[in-house]
Amino acid sequence: MFHRIRARREHRETQRMMNDLLQVAHLEPPVPDYPDAASTPAPDGSAGTMVDDFLPSELRMPTRDEIAGMMMRYDKPLVINGEIRQCPQCGSYRNWIVLSVRDEVWLRCRAGHETLEPGLDTAWYNRTSGPMTQRHSTFEDGLKYLGH
Ligand SMILES: [Zn+2]
Repeated sequence: MFHRIRARREHRETQRMMNDLLQVAHLEPPVPDYPDAASTPAPDGSAGTMVDDFLPSELRMPTRDEIAGMMMRYDKPLVINGEIRQCPQCGSYRNWIVLSVRDEVWLRCRAGHETLEPGLDTAWYNRTSGPMTQRHSTFEDGLKYLGH
């Protein structure tokens, strides 16, 4: 029981943190062909610029240190230590949103139940996800973008 209460409190803290985020990014599988965005020459006259193909900061994707949370879709069943993960509340086992917050990984089912997944960590998340392709100003925006 204590354990449950504690888990719930941590969950609330995580949720509050996610709602506080100004930048939630999510990841998608790698894009096979990058759009040819770099071919537009920068306007001349910016004297002293040493790296001329460096994008302005507003076009640059944030590095992973600059964002507080990441999210991606994971539609397949998720096997951790040989077991298929199920939502403890509704039993669904696929169509997850995987959240990476600090060093924790959370699974969110289609019905919106969020469960801390101690079997996964940021390293797993980074191995599994593709490059960041989008950033969202709110958690809800990110979810909506991912179809949840
Ligand atoms: Zn559920």
